[in-house]
Amino acid sequence: MKNKFIIAAVETVVFHLLCLYLGYKLFLDPGEARTFFDESRIWIFAIVYGAGTMLLGLHIYVNMVKPIIKAQSELEKAAEESKKAESIRKEFVANVSHELKTPLTSISGFIETLQQGAAEDPEIRTRFIDIIAIETSRLKRLIQDLLVLSDIENRKESADVRAFDIKEAIVKTVQTLEPIAASKDVKLLTDLETQATIFGSPDRFRQMMVNLIENAVKYSDTGGSVWIRTKKEGNRIQVSVRDEGIGIAEEHLDRLFERFYRVDKSRAAKAGGTGLGLSIVKHIAALFNAELKVESKVGEGTIFYVTFER
Ligand code: ADP
Repeated sequence: MKNKFIIAAVETVVFHLLCLYLGYKLFLDPGEARTFFDESRIWIFAIVYGAGTMLLGLHIYVNMVKPIIKAQSELEKAAEESKKAESIRKEFVANVSHELKTPLTSISGFIETLQQGAAEDPEIRTRFIDIIAIETSRLKRLIQDLLVLSDIENRKESADVRAFDIKEAIVKTVQTLEPIAASKDVKLLTDLETQATIFGSPDRFRQMMVNLIENAVKYSDTGGSVWIRTKKEGNRIQVSVRDEGIGIAEEHLDRLFERFYRVDKSRAAKAGGTGLGLSIVKHIAALFNAELKVESKVGEGTIFYVTFER
């Protein structure tokens, strides 16, 4: 930009010197015979000076003023984005503190009551210790999810990025989740394309599938079914997880992938959710450059689609 200023200054000086020379030639040169203020000469000078000034102004506008206006609007945009990022960060810290505080308050309350004598009664003692165990595992899950999120955000790519078979990864994930589904009498059914290879971290892919399938089981009624399908579409492959559970009302769908967003807070808390599962899914889908979509109807069920480029 500094160079452009110097060039513009030199151009302006040169232009005015040329005009002075032209003016001298037209009006003052003693070698030229003229009647003073010869009309055609005035017109020539006025046209040359006017056109030159316009061209110079246009040149300075295009090369200097326009870039300055653009840079200014980019700066304003960056400042706005940084303000937005700061407010998201503040909100996140507040949410994390709240999420940590709730189980901790409950744990310390029950411990205090036990210390004050409730431990004498074996029945109350067992009940309170069970509650403390539930709250502790909630804290553990929350911290695990926070670590996964921060790992994805900080390291973007995990070390084990390679081509892998989606079918194999899904089959393994379903096997590990079978006991959780069985405990709720939910069937995990698969319909998988043979040979569907994508590129990325298989661990991250499995993490995403775990979150989607666990949710499908969690928000299904006892005895329900969950379908995990893969479908090739040209050079894309679509993975879907469908349940026939409680479903999600339309007004929640836009915010579903936000951190700590829960449709029904009390139900999600009862189901042991951290509110981070789908935000982890969104981050992992972004790592794979995959498209993430959800369709749902209250009382009928939900389908999550993740579509990968192959
Ligand atoms: P949580 O840990 O609370 O399940 P998630 O981020 O995984 O958090 O999900 C966010 C919210 O989306 C949940 O609280 C739940 O209300 C809703 N949700 C997610 N998956 C499903 C599903 N398959 N069926 C119905 N609701 C769901």
